[in-house]
Amino acid sequence: MGRTVGIDLGTTNSVVAVLDGGEPRVIPNAEGSHLTPSVVAFTKTGERLVGAPAKRQAIINPENTVYSIKRFMGRRLGEVEAERKIVPYKIVDGKNGMAVVEIQGRQYTPEEISAMILQKLKADAEAYLGDTVDKAVVTVPAYFNDAQRTATKNAGQIAGLEVLRIVNEPTAASLAYGLDKKENETILVYDLGGGTFDVSILEVGEGLFEVRATNGDTHLGGDDWDQQIVDYVADAFQRQTGIDLRKDRQALQRLREAAEKAKVELSSSVQTTISLPFITADQEGPKHLDEALSRARFEELTRDLVERTVGPFRSALADARLAEGDIDEIILVGGSTRMPMIQELVKRLGGGKEPHRGVNPDEVVAIGAAIQGGIIGGELKEVVLLDVTPLTLGIETLGGIVDKVVPRNTHIPHRTERIYTTAADGQTQVEVHVLQGEREMARDNKTLGQFMLTGIPPAPRGIPHIKVTFDIDRNGILNVAAQDEATGRQQSITITGSTNLPKEDIDKMVQEAQRYAQEDSRRREIADAKNRAEQMIYQTESYLRDLGDKVPVDLKNQITAQLANLREAQQSDDIERIRTAMDTLQQTTLRLGELVYQQAGAAAGGGQTSGAGQPPQGAEQEEVIEAEYKAE
Ligand code: ADP
Ligand code: MG
Repeated sequence: MGRTVGIDLGTTNSVVAVLDGGEPRVIPNAEGSHLTPSVVAFTKTGERLVGAPAKRQAIINPENTVYSIKRFMGRRLGEVEAERKIVPYKIVDGKNGMAVVEIQGRQYTPEEISAMILQKLKADAEAYLGDTVDKAVVTVPAYFNDAQRTATKNAGQIAGLEVLRIVNEPTAASLAYGLDKKENETILVYDLGGGTFDVSILEVGEGLFEVRATNGDTHLGGDDWDQQIVDYVADAFQRQTGIDLRKDRQALQRLREAAEKAKVELSSSVQTTISLPFITADQEGPKHLDEALSRARFEELTRDLVERTVGPFRSALADARLAEGDIDEIILVGGSTRMPMIQELVKRLGGGKEPHRGVNPDEVVAIGAAIQGGIIGGELKEVVLLDVTPLTLGIETLGGIVDKVVPRNTHIPHRTERIYTTAADGQTQVEVHVLQGEREMARDNKTLGQFMLTGIPPAPRGIPHIKVTFDIDRNGILNVAAQDEATGRQQSITITGSTNLPKEDIDKMVQEAQRYAQEDSRRREIADAKNRAEQMIYQTESYLRDLGDKVPVDLKNQITAQLANLREAQQSDDIERIRTAMDTLQQTTLRLGELVYQQAGAAAGGGQTSGAGQPPQGAEQEEVIEAEYKAE
């Protein structure tokens, strides 16, 4: 079974995320970046490039470089006349009136182009995870119609991904912030990407998201901010040299890249320099570009662009029949919302309310998609319920029986202490074998860890008190410690990941346990009987030893024979035989018991009611000895 990922298939950039041990995580692509440009290029040599390599050669190979394919997904040619004029590649009429891309004489549907992007995301994710990826949750803008959603789903299928669900981008973003757990809240998502601007107003209650209104501008995004810098720098260069860099394709390509880089820098610093050596040349020789740009100047250059987002913001509120004050949460989505000028504007529009931060605005949608994938797959329910143990935790005791210490579904954090003892006389070490699972026998469960507690002073079996503590912290990390109470000697082991098993594993283990329940209980009965038999043998032997000559010879012989019989029965797996042998021996030793009391009564005057040699298994001790370790 392959993994499920969440994919933000963006107009400008795509992002893939996965739920990793319950935590959503963005997967870096083969180039090491979290963002994969949604660009596909066909080179002159027939090579197909996807992502950053395709973006890099866009300007020198414009007619064969497809970007913004999302604008054509599920659209008829008649619906995209405006878009068609902007892009440098050819958009033509497909067989059924749908818009298709034509490159080097071949037609590609937008689904096919998108599938090429998805294929790269899938391949990079598989390489990163070392696992197959065959299912995905893919996001789309809230305003996407049925045809656009179907096209997106088909793109996934072409790429070899089963699209479990198509989720609205603003919904995914809200999920990433855990807003699904809120009740009756109104959320505004302000999404400014590379080429599009979307405002969505959502109503959330009991985990259900309802889109109340959407608005925006399909031709407003980070690219426009870049263009302002390109124009500013090119104008300055032209004033100095008389050369218009915008007329030189390669120079323009370099300038665009430098402009975007400068813009990104100005989100965190207040000053930057755009420096492009050897940008062009004239009769006098090579020309270098060096232009300083301050954030203040940049903000002035792009003030109009910022203001253009205000209209759609207000319209969305009006459509939802809401006032500014009715918005409970504002979420910033899209790389362009990293710009301080946008953050200030949103704060102003939200009546001074701070928008949500903390999740990368250009990753938040993919993260939400991964979370949605986890909810569908059931994996996340375990995370939400991370506060319980999914399976029983215990330790192996005498006869390979599991002593269940922490039952499944126990709330964590949790702590249990139990006292165990030794199984053999003079035993100086015990092995703590920590197990997970529902089965009765140790060998049928999963070993989580094992350690030895050594240095126990030699003593008859059953005498040492070994305190074993199971401690599970808030994060599900299990610590098992064993301590010999007499000496204080202690050993412990820390086990991580005992609580976040994949759901399938858990279900499988629980089902198996049910299937084997009968067989297990029989095996447990056998083991129990053997343990009791062994205890009885030990006890009887020590009585005989203690009483010595006081036991009449015929009784002693009878007991010895019955002991041998029980020992033999104890070796078999025949419960009936063991029980019969035990019953017989018990009848005979009752007479031995009478003898002991008679002697105790006779010695009462001497004050010798008990001694060090008395059998250790008293009723009192049975209360603390809940199980015994198997002998080493
Ligand atoms: P889309 O949703 O359109 O695929 P993204 O959300 O990835 O796009 O946004 C891409 C845009 O965000 C680009 O224009 C990019 O330059 C811009 N961007 C990314 N990081 C920053 C930043 N730190 N400051 C300003 N703009 C940024
Ligand atoms: Mg986006």
